[in-house]
Amino acid sequence: MRSAARAAVATPRFVIDSMLGKLARWLRALGYDTLYFKVAEDRTLLQLAHAEARTLLTRDTRLARLAGARGLLIQATEVEPQIVEVIERLALTPASDDLLSRCLECNARLADRPKESLKGRVPEYVFATQDRFVGCPGCGRIYWRGSHADRILARLGRVLGARS
Ligand SMILES: [Zn+2]
Repeated sequence: MRSAARAAVATPRFVIDSMLGKLARWLRALGYDTLYFKVAEDRTLLQLAHAEARTLLTRDTRLARLAGARGLLIQATEVEPQIVEVIERLALTPASDDLLSRCLECNARLADRPKESLKGRVPEYVFATQDRFVGCPGCGRIYWRGSHADRILARLGRVLGARS
């Protein structure tokens, strides 16, 4: 019964207060569906949280209170402890398959892009040295597993490892 109940739990989705932009990018890097706007009214964030069953993450006690069961008040001020806080408070288990599966800029799910289709669209040395590319259907960005992705993964591993 326990495992059946666990499997039924939907992957959480988020809407992030404007002041937590770095946290939004990290949640996207972990593969979570995360809405973030540089400018948004509290009312809009609350509506999205309720209409789309998203957890509203904020450092604003008033907004967290307004969100009720949909809100989560973030205590930490730095992004790494914030990630740990979210993961622990919501008992998240980020799946390694989902890492770097979303666009950090716009949240869309990334799709595989055949290498040959990208000639001239990525720097030459990248084209020469990388084999696997993914692209964002939302904003058109192309991502590859270069040093940037490796840095993100290393930092995630450190952050996630530090909590155990
Ligand atoms: Zn995008």
